[in-house]
Amino acid sequence: MSQQCIDPIVGKILAGWRYDISGLALEMRSDYESHLADCEHCRGRQQMHRIIDVGLIALASISAGVFLLAFGVIWHLGPRHAFWLEIAALAGFALSALIWLGVAVATPAPVTVLDAAKEGARRGFDRLPQEIRQRLPEELRIKITGT
Ligand SMILES: [Zn+2]
Repeated sequence: MSQQCIDPIVGKILAGWRYDISGLALEMRSDYESHLADCEHCRGRQQMHRIIDVGLIALASISAGVFLLAFGVIWHLGPRHAFWLEIAALAGFALSALIWLGVAVATPAPVTVLDAAKEGARRGFDRLPQEIRQRLPEELRIKITGT
């Protein structure tokens, strides 16, 4: 990470996009992809930003879950002022869901998570014995391995 960017002009553009090129057209993307492949500095930054995106999604999910749980507990126990506590819990849930949606829309976090899931599935698939692999439906095999 201490390394300097090999092409600061391209690096600056990438930084402005938070190193997210998933929304670019394919022919535009290749230049930046090759820069990311060559430049250790930008690759490190890109990784860091994706970790932050996924972290935010995870935090918003946990927060939404906690508020929902709080709502359930209040609803179940029915303490005094239950109505206002329920409203507060629901408002917290709604806010968490909004943040979740915002992060999901504004960052490539869903793509990152999907890629990680695919990578995990591929690795698990590679570990399966040959005979089981052969028995899996063709479609599923293509989906997992991409070949
Ligand atoms: Zn760079």
